Amino acid sequence: MNIPSELDQVELEDKLGSFLATIRDQGRTMLLPALIETQKLFGYISKEHASKIGKDLKVPLADVTGVIEFYSMLSTLPVKKPKLRVCSSPVCVAQGANQFMEQSREDYSIEKVACLGLCDQAPALMSGDIQIGQASWEKIIKKIPISFPNIYGDRILTKYINPETGPSLEKYLERNGFRTLEQVLTSSPKEIIATIKSSGLKGRGGAGFPTGLKWEGAAQAKDDTKYIICNADESEPGTFKDRALLLGDPFSIIEGILIAAYAIGATQGYLYIRGEYPDVHSVIQNVLSQALEAGYLGENILSKGFNFHLEVRSGAGAYICGEETALFESIEGKRGFPRIKPPFPTTHGLFGKPTVINNVETFANVPIIFSDGVESYKNIGSESVPGPRLFSLSGDISKPGIYEVTQPITLKELIFEKAGGLPSDSAIKGVLFGGAAGKFIGPESLDLLLTEEEARSKGLSLGSGAIMVFDQRRNMKEVIASLGNFFAHESCGKCYPCQLGTQRQVEILDRNLNGGMISGDISRLKDVGWTMTDASLCGLGQTAGLAVLSALDLWPEIFNEKEL
Ligand code: SF4
Repeated sequence: MNIPSELDQVELEDKLGSFLATIRDQGRTMLLPALIETQKLFGYISKEHASKIGKDLKVPLADVTGVIEFYSMLSTLPVKKPKLRVCSSPVCVAQGANQFMEQSREDYSIEKVACLGLCDQAPALMSGDIQIGQASWEKIIKKIPISFPNIYGDRILTKYINPETGPSLEKYLERNGFRTLEQVLTSSPKEIIATIKSSGLKGRGGAGFPTGLKWEGAAQAKDDTKYIICNADESEPGTFKDRALLLGDPFSIIEGILIAAYAIGATQGYLYIRGEYPDVHSVIQNVLSQALEAGYLGENILSKGFNFHLEVRSGAGAYICGEETALFESIEGKRGFPRIKPPFPTTHGLFGKPTVINNVETFANVPIIFSDGVESYKNIGSESVPGPRLFSLSGDISKPGIYEVTQPITLKELIFEKAGGLPSDSAIKGVLFGGAAGKFIGPESLDLLLTEEEARSKGLSLGSGAIMVFDQRRNMKEVIASLGNFFAHESCGKCYPCQLGTQRQVEILDRNLNGGMISGDISRLKDVGWTMTDASLCGLGQTAGLAVLSALDLWPEIFNEKEL
């Protein structure tokens, strides 16, 4: 990286000064945007800049420093060499990411990151802001970016995604975009919520909470200020479907957000995008400007007296910020520590106000429910979770990509009929089902029907729809150790079971990888896993041991203790 000359430095200082002048009045909530901007301009955040930002936004320097340290994409030290962020998700590790990292390159500084959300193109990395899939040094040097994920299946939610043309307001209006919003604005909020409730829509971010109930809770909360948040912090390893929706059909997500805002009485919303998706961030900024200019955001939308402002916020490398209350803390300019629940976000959410937070795919379902009708919507999907569902399929598979499933199929059908089976002669060793927070299942379980009902009956969850396939050639010790590393790195440290448990877990898994597991390690691993599951404060700790525990059951032969 070039060190800025003195002249450049003056220009950069001017730019930062102008930026801070535009956000100063908003105070602490703009802390993360200010830090991200500083990092962008100077490559790091110096003590002087941290102090200046703190003074401008009225945040104590200790808190500014705490926030910088919390987010892995922010740095307090100058970066002398261009940074390569190498993905260390299970699929990228299985497909050679670790070996890639070991190749020393004098001209790059290599950093391991949890997951870049590019699992269909493993091994993946980021060189500066450029995302590179099926990485090679040639691609890095020539700056060849990733391609758009392949999308397969019946295409309802993804019908209008066209990587060739990209999103445009004009095209969205041509296909009757925002007509649903127009109609919905003539109904009462109660009627809208009743429609969402009767559609049976459930959240697609992982927890599967009924969307209508969430909206109703916030609508009934007595407060003049309410918020809507679209959670686009898609960080679950193995999940990359929201990225495609945001890049390919963002106006339908905005329409879904607007309908939710009207239903609960919110006038302000945030779209929180993970920091590892810079391309999504710029597309969404552009789309919001177009929508604002055309009168679909802002004051008196569609001349119906409805006001709603939507702002983009960027994460900066913290998986935990996908947890709803940690995300609120992040928007409020704090470290992303999850809050204790209750109280729940529908009454005490962002800034302590009633808030609805839904995932990208959930919002994308909303306009379809109104345009196609509840009965038609309920004919899709399963009885308890109606509607189309997106699965991110990656790993040892002939056609990795996003699969839209509209009628229940088995995992075997998905892998062998829809996705062309395995690319090698090897057989399936295991499938990591539901992301890093999910569990491994073996080839004997492939008849599993891909519905939430069936998954739950088998002790599984569809989660955010991540399915990672590993064939017999893969080093599962390495894959499992990568999961241990992931959770140890991403634990926020607020509660002891997870803070200590994820550390102990990765130590034992690293010992296993390096052939040094000692007597009693297996029982310690189980102990740690169950303690984290039962006693952790939030979903991260509660799921941090599940994949490891499932691997212990499935493949005891890969955990080898040495007698002391
Ligand atoms: Fe933080 Fe882990 Fe506790 Fe969640 S479970 S609050 S991530 S330490």
